[in-house]
This record gives sequence, structure tokens and C-alpha cells, in this order.
Amino acid sequence: MNYDDANIFAKILRGEIPNETVMETDHALAFRDINPQAPNHVLVIPKGKYVSFDDFAANADPAEIVDFIRTVGAIASAEGLALKDGGDGFRLISNAGKNGVQEVPHFHVHILGGRWLGRMLKKPEGE
Ligand code: 5GP
Repeated sequence: MNYDDANIFAKILRGEIPNETVMETDHALAFRDINPQAPNHVLVIPKGKYVSFDDFAANADPAEIVDFIRTVGAIASAEGLALKDGGDGFRLISNAGKNGVQEVPHFHVHILGGRWLGRMLKKPEGE
């Protein structure tokens, strides 16, 4: 599993293209999705070079993993979505590879909320 340094999130991390940053930590960056699918749509990425969730889970340092998970939780709170703060909830999505329909090959989690999101998955047409 090779990491492609030319992917768009690598460019964002290098400051080569702009982003609307929501939160930045030692190991993670969170920014608004350019094509939001809900009123709140934030992407959280580790600063390290990981392709997918499974790559991150297997190869990231514990400090990177803790920082990442805490950042996701902090954004849910900051966006007013977290249940612990009385928010109405949210959905986390991490697409991986061909069947997961991952567009950008740098591990990321989508945080979606701000409206009722419907059922988790729909079967593709014809199935
Ligand atoms: P994936 O399908 O890989 O899980 O999702 C990639 C996400 O990245 C998509 O929701 C897409 O809208 C978002 N995206 C792609 N290019 C850019 C960009 O240049 N800036 C931002 N902020 N989001 C992007």
C-alpha cells in the first residue's frame, strides 16, 4: 500500500492549496469539506502519511491515534453535534479503497450532521 504524495490532502497539509481549517493539533488537521453533504461536514485527517483506516490503525503511533480520536470528538462538540453536550448527533464515515469508494487516498474521517441523515446505506440501483 503505497502513499501517493500528490494526493489533494497531502497538498493541503503542505499548504499548497487552501482549506477552511476547523481545528489543528500536533497530529491532526480538520477542515470543511469542499462539497458538503450536510450542514456540518468536516474532514479530519492525520498529519502522518496513512492511506486508509486500516493503515492508520496498524501503523500509527498511539499518540497519533489518541490525538486523532480526541480531535474527532472535540469537533463533534465544537460543531454542536455531540450527544454529551445535548446535540442531535452525527455520523462518522471513513471510506477505504475501491469498494468503499474512497476518492482521496489519505486516511480521513467525515463528520456529518446538522440534519437527519437517513438510513446508513442504500443498495445500489438494480440490487
Ligand atoms: P472520500 O470519497 O475520499 O471519502 O472523500 C473525499 C472528500 O474530499 C469528498 O467529500 C470531497 O468533497 C472532499 N474534497 C476533495 N477535494 C477537496 C479539496 O480540495 N478541499 C476540501 N476541503 N475537500 C475536498
